[in-house]
Amino acid sequence: MYPQLFTVWCVIVFVFGCCIGSFLNVCIWRVPRGMSVVSPPSHCPKCDHEITPLENIPLLSWIFLRGRCSACHEPITIRYFLVELVTGLLFALIFLKVTAAGEPLTLLAPFFVMTAILICSAFTDCELGIIPNEFTYTGMICGLLFALLFPSAWHLESRITAFLLSLGSLAAAGGLMALCAAAGRRIFRREALGWGDVKFIAAAGAMAGLPCALFTVAAGSLAGLLAAPFLRLIPKYRKRRTLRFGPFLAFGMLLWIFFGETLVGMYLRILN
Ligand SMILES: [Zn+2]
Repeated sequence: MYPQLFTVWCVIVFVFGCCIGSFLNVCIWRVPRGMSVVSPPSHCPKCDHEITPLENIPLLSWIFLRGRCSACHEPITIRYFLVELVTGLLFALIFLKVTAAGEPLTLLAPFFVMTAILICSAFTDCELGIIPNEFTYTGMICGLLFALLFPSAWHLESRITAFLLSLGSLAAAGGLMALCAAAGRRIFRREALGWGDVKFIAAAGAMAGLPCALFTVAAGSLAGLLAAPFLRLIPKYRKRRTLRFGPFLAFGMLLWIFFGETLVGMYLRILN
C-alpha cells in the first residue's frame, strides 16, 4: 500500500475509533444505571439541555465548549474527552499492529470489540466498582460469533472448530476464575474477586482464547500488586478495603492485544 494511502487509512480508523468512543461514553454512563443506550437522546445531566449534533462531535466539541455545558456552563467531566481519544488512538494502533505484522484484517473485529469492552469495564469499575453483565456478556457473544464468522482470526479454517475452541476457552477461563473467586471468599472471608471480574476473564477467553485469559489475569494481578502501595497514598482509595480489579484486568488485556503472543513466545523460549 502507498504510504500516503496508508496514512489516510490510519486517520480513518482513528476517527472511527473516536466515534465509537463517543458511544462508549454513553454506555459507561447509562448501562450501570439501567438506562437505554438508544433513547432518550444525549442531554446534560445537570440542566437536561439536549446535546445538539454540533455539540456531539468527538474530541472537537469538548475542546470548543472548553469542557462546559453550552446551556448551564457546568463542567463536563474530562472522561468524555479521554474515552474518545483513547479509543481512537487504540483503534489506530491496533490497525497499525495488525497490518505491520501481515495478520488477517479479520483480527481487527475481535480486537476492536475487546478494546471497547475493556474501556467500558475499566471506567465503570473505576467509577462505580462494578463491571455490568451487559459488557461482559456482549464480549462472550461477540467472541463466539466472531469465531464462527472469522475462523482465520483463530488460525483455523473450520468455523465449527473455531467456535468450539472459543466456547471451550470461555468455559475454562470462567470456571478457573470462579474457583479462584470461591477460594478467595473462603480464605479471606470477603469478596476478593468480584463476579464481574470472573465474567470479564471468561469474555477474554471467548474473544481471544485461554492463553489471552490467563495472560490477562497474570498481567492484571501483577499490575494491581505494583500499583496498590501507590493507590494507598491517595485519600480516596485509602478507605477502600478491596482493590478495584477491573482497570488492571483491562490493562492486562490491552498488553495481550499488543504484545501477548511475543511475550508468551519469549517466556516459552526461556523455559526451553
Ligand atoms: Zn447543562
